[in-house]
Amino acid sequence: MTEKKQLFGTNGVRGIVGESMTPGLVLRIGQALGAMRPGTIAIGRDTRTSGPMLVHALKAGLIASGCRVVDCGVLPTPALQYIVRDRFAAGAMITASHNPPEYNGVKIIERDGTEMGDEEVIALEGRLFRDEYALADWRRLGGEEEVPALVESYLAGILAHFPEGTGRGMTVAVDPGSGPASLTTPTLLERMGCTVRTINGEPDGTFPGRLPEPTPDGLKPLAALVRESGAAFGVAHDGDADRAVFIDDRGRYVEENREFALIAHHVCRGRQGVIVTPVSSSQLIEDVAAATGCTVRYTQVGSIYVARSMLSLIGAGIEVAFGGEGNGGLIYPDHQFCRDGGMTAAMMVAMLAETGRPLSQLVDELPPYHFISERLKTRRAQEIVTAIAAAFPDFSHDSTDGIRISKGKTWALVRRSGTEPIVRVMVEAEDRVAAEAMRDAILERIAPLLD
Ligand code: MG
Repeated sequence: MTEKKQLFGTNGVRGIVGESMTPGLVLRIGQALGAMRPGTIAIGRDTRTSGPMLVHALKAGLIASGCRVVDCGVLPTPALQYIVRDRFAAGAMITASHNPPEYNGVKIIERDGTEMGDEEVIALEGRLFRDEYALADWRRLGGEEEVPALVESYLAGILAHFPEGTGRGMTVAVDPGSGPASLTTPTLLERMGCTVRTINGEPDGTFPGRLPEPTPDGLKPLAALVRESGAAFGVAHDGDADRAVFIDDRGRYVEENREFALIAHHVCRGRQGVIVTPVSSSQLIEDVAAATGCTVRYTQVGSIYVARSMLSLIGAGIEVAFGGEGNGGLIYPDHQFCRDGGMTAAMMVAMLAETGRPLSQLVDELPPYHFISERLKTRRAQEIVTAIAAAFPDFSHDSTDGIRISKGKTWALVRRSGTEPIVRVMVEAEDRVAAEAMRDAILERIAPLLD
């Protein structure tokens, strides 16, 4: 790729409302999208206070371009992705995902339900920069209808993967973080038969209970609710509910690579195929693949790359078993090709129902790999990546994104940031001593190239 995205990042365009994120910008995004994807566009938003303002700007741009707009109201990003797939020319979600309340942004959804890819985003940005739109005259303007009930098809789509009553007898604590999953995840789990206790369960763009990013600290009240209610687990979402993270039955935060490994193991048993994940994921995923007869295919860091790689493997006739990232963003290919926090919560119910064992035990049985992550300032990130590739000749090398080197149960990833003059170093090994030794070996090599 020769050109780079300028406005859009890995997950859409985001900014602080009233500063870089304005109705003027979103109007132009609507006009550019309307020119590129003429037809009917489904739109939705998360619960942020700036959502209604930006939705109106987006609609104005689309309608001015002759598009019809179907407003799905407040809903999770994966619900909009499910609704768009095969029904609409495209979708647009007003959300800033896990960012703090003062942020907002736009994610563009393609008709196959995936987020818009790099090349198309660069084309869309090009139209913005050149003010190149296709505005309709007064006879060809678009129009609007409101169909909030479409979210029902998303819930039905998830429930269709599980036998009725899968969650019967199970109490579950849910923390939608005042986000759009307030309207979906509790209902979903109740329909699976679970008894649901909810915290931060009212849509509220001021996020009174916790910030949109679900952190161990922010989820302490959820952990308390799990213990007090005797729940099998607690589940929390980020601000647009494409991710789900968990609290175990003892009230402990489940590290996201462990969540990924447990659910991947549940899904992949008895189905040989490929598990697709970014190069930053834990050795736990290799272990799951080895235990289930699957193989791992690595991608660049970013859920869009995982989803698109899954689709292209399937297009090439290769069986894909599962996909995901070690941040609570899991992709179940039998459902749809994007991260889905509601689906992930439902899969946790199914996994616990089938094993009949407490989540805490399943977590504790996983190998206790030690993980280290560092950010180092440098303007010579590319030289560092090259130096590491040369410095560890007896390791396996993968240059999908930066350089990933691995040997036995030890791996390291060294990659440059796309946005800052830094290099990220991640190391994982069987124990702390081995991980620190590996990190020190890498730091020794790259020290002369740091600022
Ligand atoms: Mg998100």
